[in-house]
Amino acid sequence: MDKVNILGVHVDMVNISQAADCIVTFLGEEKFHAVFTPNSEIIMHAYKNPEFAKLLNRAELLTADGIGVVYASKFLKKPIRERAAGYDIARQVLNKINGTGHKLFLFGGKPGVAQEAKKNLLKEYPELNIVGMRDGYFRPEDEEEIVEQINNSGADMVFVCLGAPKQEEWIGRHREKLEVRVAMGIGGSLDVFAGRVTRAPEIFQKTGMEWFYRLCKEPWRIRRMMDLPKFAVTVMTNGRKYNQN
Ligand code: UDP
Repeated sequence: MDKVNILGVHVDMVNISQAADCIVTFLGEEKFHAVFTPNSEIIMHAYKNPEFAKLLNRAELLTADGIGVVYASKFLKKPIRERAAGYDIARQVLNKINGTGHKLFLFGGKPGVAQEAKKNLLKEYPELNIVGMRDGYFRPEDEEEIVEQINNSGADMVFVCLGAPKQEEWIGRHREKLEVRVAMGIGGSLDVFAGRVTRAPEIFQKTGMEWFYRLCKEPWRIRRMMDLPKFAVTVMTNGRKYNQN
């Protein structure tokens, strides 16, 4: 798969449906695969933290979640055609695995969210095999037990929804012990599946303005979003150098 190096993060040049196909292929392979969907904020975080960049680059699939990353790839002359957000990829994967017997574990969100998400998902994908759930609020000393719970459930895929960079760090810490074939870090997706948060209307998504919709709904995000202009400037000044390597 072609990749574009964005400030040291090797993002796969895939769209949503290619990413979903890739994950279904991963499910057929007897080994662990991590899937992350970095946005500009996360790439800036990796830019400042080489260890975190390494962790991201170990992932078997990294998709561009955010219009900033899509524009960066175009600027670097390795254009990614569309934003491939975790939620959209997850939906396509669920469509494909409904009725196949693959086992899914939902991990993350506030207490009760994973249960609500399961209820709603089963309405839409009645043959989905959801074998376990766990909320995303835990103490560091609980982590081993969570890994055991996931392994004992027999799941071959886990959605890890702790927000970034927590979910990527969690998966990175446990990738050697997790017995699933796919661990996907997909942020607030369980909140959306549970119906607690609504996605921006399609017009905002299609025009690359979902960030603006989210900002209006959750103004506290402004601090995190301030990374976007820094990201744009850094890509324009330093981005080409990375992409030659
Ligand atoms: N979350 C969690 N444990 C934590 C912190 C956050 O499970 O310790 C959950 C939170 O309840 C929410 C999700 O992680 O469901 C983060 O959602 P957000 O939309 O902020 O994530 P993003 O996709 O923007 O990284």
